[in-house]
Amino acid sequence: MAEAKTKKKGLALHWQILIGIGLGIVAGIVLCKITPYDNWYKYIKWAGDIFLRGLRMIVIPLVFSSIALGVAGMGNSAALGRIAGKTILYYIVTTAIAATIGLTLVNIVKPGVGASLNLAEEVTAVGSGQVSFIDQIVSIVPSNIFESMAKGDLLPIIFFAIIFGLFMNKVDEKYTGFLTNLFTSIYEVIMKITMFIIRLAPFGVFAIVTNVVGKQADDPQALLAMAGSLGIFVLVVWGGLLIQGGVILPLLVRLIGKQNPWRHISKMSTALLTAFSTCSSGAALPINIRDSQEKCGVSNKIASFVLPLGSTINMNGTALYECVTAIFIAQAYGIDLSLAQQVMIVFTALLAAIGAAGIPMAGMVMLAIVLSAVGLPLEGIGLVLAVEQLCDMPRTCINTYGDACGAVIIAHSEGEELTI
Ligand code: ASP
Repeated sequence: MAEAKTKKKGLALHWQILIGIGLGIVAGIVLCKITPYDNWYKYIKWAGDIFLRGLRMIVIPLVFSSIALGVAGMGNSAALGRIAGKTILYYIVTTAIAATIGLTLVNIVKPGVGASLNLAEEVTAVGSGQVSFIDQIVSIVPSNIFESMAKGDLLPIIFFAIIFGLFMNKVDEKYTGFLTNLFTSIYEVIMKITMFIIRLAPFGVFAIVTNVVGKQADDPQALLAMAGSLGIFVLVVWGGLLIQGGVILPLLVRLIGKQNPWRHISKMSTALLTAFSTCSSGAALPINIRDSQEKCGVSNKIASFVLPLGSTINMNGTALYECVTAIFIAQAYGIDLSLAQQVMIVFTALLAAIGAAGIPMAGMVMLAIVLSAVGLPLEGIGLVLAVEQLCDMPRTCINTYGDACGAVIIAHSEGEELTI
């Protein structure tokens, strides 16, 4: 009976997604080559769009119900304060480590020195991105929660959900009970929808990758650029991400979370591959919450607080990318940066990573903040446009992985029994 059940399960989902990625690469190249004028790869894009929209569709009800429940479940504000304090500390420390790794590598390898500025593409879509620190803080408090929900602004939604959860415990018991039931029901339904949507992941991922690869294979400029300093720049970004995701975070899971990091990565592989192929840590969030709870044993209380918050403010990969790219641009333009300016880059990279949304290319848009903080030319962003996809995929994966590690470490520190 048990054997029959295992057989029925078939190939694990992460293998199916990996096959989807592999087939997508092949299909993208083949379709681009055999249909050079009509680019048939774009006719597959809709399947990827449906998958992504499906995941985004559930994010807001999921975040709201899970955080309100999680906070209410903490029972008192002391527990909330303790967990929030640990979460923020973990996020700041790991993001600062990531940014410093990026800064160090790019200063050692110097990929921008001698880079040809002719390859710079024109930047049209990127605004100045200038928002003051105070404005960022103020905008966390929503003036209209429905507007924030309609716009998909997660930080104000998280703020309101925390307040709501806190005050859920302060009303008459019969209302607390009713609200707990209501949110638990919503949460359970959304989780079931999540399970349904992620079964479509291999197809969605196949369509997304086919389209991305088709476009790149169609763009000889991008391929050419990869041969020179941009190729080295990409390698520096990947190298930094590999150190953060393959050494620093696993070490923290081992030493502080007291868990086997490789088993943890394998349990989180569906979420990580989804982040990698969709370039959206927001889209990977529902899967991250589900697998952290179901496969790793993190409690609902911790997963539903740490992960949604992490998906918006904890972006190790993005911070690292911001540092590497800002210094790469300075090198390409032959601008010498003082130590103080480099420290400023690390600091603004932290803020940019906090402010970046969990959507594709958000980090590149936030680069404008980092560049203007130290007076670097905004046009420099045009230099790295050609390889944005190649940098966005792995940095999103590390963003999501950083959150998953945070959930495990904080759960362990709260004395939870994990099942990794
Ligand atoms: N795409 C990234 C994410 O969703 C954000 C970024 O562009 O750096 O986490």
